[in-house]
Amino acid sequence: MTALLEPPTTKPLVPHVIELEITGECQLVCEHCFADSGPAGTHGVMTQADWFGVIDQATEIGIATVQLIGGEPTTFPGWAGLVDHALSRGRKVEIFSNLYHVSAKGWAVFEHPGVSLATSYYSVNAGEHDKVTKTIGSHERTRANIVEAIRRGIPIRAGIVGVHDGQLERLAVNELHSLGIERVTLDYARGVGRSTKSVPDVSALCGNCGRGRLAIMPDGSVSPCVLGRFLKPANVRESSLASILAGPEWAAVVATIPERAEPCGPNGGPCSPSDQGVCGPGYTMGGCPPNDSNDCSPANTEACGPSY
Ligand code: SF4
Repeated sequence: MTALLEPPTTKPLVPHVIELEITGECQLVCEHCFADSGPAGTHGVMTQADWFGVIDQATEIGIATVQLIGGEPTTFPGWAGLVDHALSRGRKVEIFSNLYHVSAKGWAVFEHPGVSLATSYYSVNAGEHDKVTKTIGSHERTRANIVEAIRRGIPIRAGIVGVHDGQLERLAVNELHSLGIERVTLDYARGVGRSTKSVPDVSALCGNCGRGRLAIMPDGSVSPCVLGRFLKPANVRESSLASILAGPEWAAVVATIPERAEPCGPNGGPCSPSDQGVCGPGYTMGGCPPNDSNDCSPANTEACGPSY
């Protein structure tokens, strides 16, 4: 009797971050916004109960971190409940907020153990920052809330995006380091959302999309990351997350995204000692290896590049 051979099984790579884009609403109208968000944006069709279900599925799969993003995620009425739910499932939570307005309740949620913040910042110069956000006074408010988050001991990282000439974005990196934020990334506007009038393609992506992360949009569609939103092979309102990640459509989409050859450094180049002023001790760009962990340290030279 001949033993039946089991068909080969492919085990999908488990992402370590799931980005939940819970709203398209935002108080700001940034020039480069990947999500084309603004005050007229909506929360989409996903309800709080739908998002609870996504968090439960992410937990079953083993995704360690739930990120709430938008738009401005704190404009979604049930955002604090989503944080509680993810924490109750043993997930870490990162809230990617513009920190334009933080209510007393918001600060209380941010201070929960297991919660961290990420924010965007554009310049040391208030006028240059406000030129990007197209909102006068946004620099003052965001900077003050960054300082307050640090004062409260809330873990926080920042992403700086270069959008226009003369923005002084590199000085902003130094400024945030001096305020006490170790994890500061510098990137430049990518060809998605309001940054481009042409059809976006995978050349605009950092290469980690779909490999260490995935994103769920306000309509339930699943994308390799929020920047790769033009790739939507499935929808969580129609299929389970596990079946989507194990399916051929997902694998085919991820395979179209070129993996990054040079992992870290300004403009996608290597992060050399001469870049320390920009890179800082915890430098990453768009989340560098290993495993997109924001941990490009001397101990990780193999993953981060020999010149790190
Ligand atoms: S703060 Fe973020 S979501 Fe809001 S408009 Fe600016 S880039 Fe878009």
